[in-house]
Amino acid sequence: MTTPQAGEAQGSDAGPGYWIDPARFEELKRSMEVLLVTRRCSTCSEETPDISSPPPVDEQIAHILECCASDESFILPGMPLQEIVFRMILAAGNNPLTVGQLHHQLTEQWATPGNLMNVTPEGLHRVLENDDYYGFRRQDLS
Ligand SMILES: [Zn+2]
Repeated sequence: MTTPQAGEAQGSDAGPGYWIDPARFEELKRSMEVLLVTRRCSTCSEETPDISSPPPVDEQIAHILECCASDESFILPGMPLQEIVFRMILAAGNNPLTVGQLHHQLTEQWATPGNLMNVTPEGLHRVLENDDYYGFRRQDLS
């Protein structure tokens, strides 16, 4: 299990970070492994493992870092906000990112004329707190 290291969070943003907590999936009675398998990039989709026996979470996050996160199809501006946030956190190796960091990336990197990512940091914070699909978990960074 990859335990996020609070001290490694990038940037100087204050406030808690958010990561994808496998324990949250257990609470929600959903499979993080399956969610990850179905997020593989188009380049490696050919070798996608059997969905009925997906590899462990750690292995998949390592794979995403090596392969999928650098594929240009991994994050597309047309994806729903939560999906993009989910993929941004995975692309950071599932290390916690603050609302400020996520909001900055969303608006600077993924906003397009067709999808303005018109969300305030407060709105983004609410999305993260109210999610019960992607397994976002707040972690206080000190
Ligand atoms: Zn890939």
